[in-house]
Amino acid sequence: MQYRRLGKTSLMVSEIGFGGEWLERHPEEESIALIRYAHEKGINIIDCWMADPKSRDIIGKAIADCRDEWFVQGHIGSTCQNGQYVRSRDLAVVKPAFEDLVQRIGGGYIDLGMIHYVDTQEDWDKAMNGPFIAYVHELHRKSRIRHIGLSTHNPRIAKMAAESGFIEMILFSINPAFDLHPATEDIDDLFVGYEQLNVDGIDPERAALYRLCEEKDVGITVMKGFFGGRLFDAKTSPFGAAFTAPQLIHYSLTRPAVASILCGYDTPEQVDQAVAYEAATDDERDYASVIAGAPLHAYTGQCTYCGHCKPCPMNIDIAMVNKFYDLAVQQETVPETVHEHYKSLNHTASACIGCHGCEARCPFGVKIAERMKKTAELFGV
Ligand code: SF4
Ligand code: SF4
Repeated sequence: MQYRRLGKTSLMVSEIGFGGEWLERHPEEESIALIRYAHEKGINIIDCWMADPKSRDIIGKAIADCRDEWFVQGHIGSTCQNGQYVRSRDLAVVKPAFEDLVQRIGGGYIDLGMIHYVDTQEDWDKAMNGPFIAYVHELHRKSRIRHIGLSTHNPRIAKMAAESGFIEMILFSINPAFDLHPATEDIDDLFVGYEQLNVDGIDPERAALYRLCEEKDVGITVMKGFFGGRLFDAKTSPFGAAFTAPQLIHYSLTRPAVASILCGYDTPEQVDQAVAYEAATDDERDYASVIAGAPLHAYTGQCTYCGHCKPCPMNIDIAMVNKFYDLAVQQETVPETVHEHYKSLNHTASACIGCHGCEARCPFGVKIAERMKKTAELFGV
């Protein structure tokens, strides 16, 4: 298992994580065994957005013997009322729900205290200007939560979170289909309407968000990486082509700032299938040729950082150079941190000899040699 730094939290999280929402649908002992099995495979981050006592107990019991080896992403504002999940900013219900979470998970703290599920501007305003956010800061001051995070499906909200300065990481929904979709305050919009989309490739707000997160060192964990299974079937995939799990995992893990993709599991075999990504070949991970060969796609001319263009005779890491270029051009002046990171590359764009060999391998028709020239001019090396 590879581990990645989760932005400014500096936590080293497994790049394959555990999304806990299916735990409840199995007998308790079975779900406990599943979490322990995932841990044996190297998984060390688990999301618990669920408010029900059964899911929380399962996680707490499964990790009781090794609490400090797990990073729990626990949600503030996810409450259980009359047996039903209710999202709330009302401290009268939020506080007891959080205390219940800490008590059931164990250890007396939550590693990543998530401001739960903010998708609308109205809810952002409500959550950020009042007692709710004061409570989150208080939990942080008292080390009941070790880091502050936020979960959202809306890139506009995620952008505000990344710019907040105090939100250290974001749980965000990422897959190749969502990335085509403009920002919306209603998650249901993301599941319908692709046939009407006038798609010009990756939605610019989403592309800008990933770059912003990388620049601000705000780590991302990924939810809905498989689009609820729709991308596994050509009939339900908006691309008209089916993807495999390693391809979709690779897509998420190659977005800037992403540290871990949290997959849902029902069985140990499904854990094995996700963890198999670690040993997958480049060909098995290659989502790019699926998109490029699909009946419907709109990524032409855009770098998706897939790395398909390798090798370069001058050893330039083309995908990385392209990432830095994209990061730099969204600003009026190149940020110092981006400049420094770019300069620390072993081989910068100025080494490009314009052979165009890479362009034949790029499934998206990116004019790489031209971009290398522009990048060298921009950074001066
Ligand atoms: S230039 Fe093309 S092949 Fe290379 S990383 Fe970008 S999209 Fe992939
Ligand atoms: S065009 Fe430049 S970046 Fe592409 S393979 Fe040739 S030297 Fe490398």
